[in-house]
Amino acid sequence: MPNNPFYCSSCAHRGPAPGFCGTCPDEPLLDLRQEDVRNTLDELDTRARQTRQGKVVLGSVALIGIPAWFAVFRIVGGELGILVGVGLASVTAAAIMRYLPVRRRMPELTDAELASIRSDATGNRR
Ligand SMILES: [Zn+2]
Repeated sequence: MPNNPFYCSSCAHRGPAPGFCGTCPDEPLLDLRQEDVRNTLDELDTRARQTRQGKVVLGSVALIGIPAWFAVFRIVGGELGILVGVGLASVTAAAIMRYLPVRRRMPELTDAELASIRSDATGNRR
C-alpha cells in the first residue's frame, strides 16, 4: 500500500503520514498496513451489521409481521396469516438491510493495495 495507508475510521480520510485526522481532532489515524488494524475494523463492521440486523428484524416483525398476521387472520383465518406475516416481515427486513446498509468502517482496498500488503507480509517473514 504505497499511498495513504493512514486512515480515519470516523470520516474515512486517508493520508500518507501517521498522526491525527485533520477533520476529526481526537481521531488518531490507523495504519491499514497492520493486519490487526484491518481485522479490528472488520470485526467492528460485522458487529455493527449484526446489531442493526437484530433491530431491523425485531422492528419488521413488530411493525409489519404481527399486524399483517393479525389482519390476515381476522379476514381469512387459519394459518395463512402466519405465512403472510413472516413473509412480509422478512422481505421488509431484507430490503432495509439492502438499501440502508450500515456504514462500513473498514475501507474498500484496491487490488493494488491488497497486493502491496501481501508482498509486504511475505517480505517480513524471514
Ligand atoms: Zn476524520
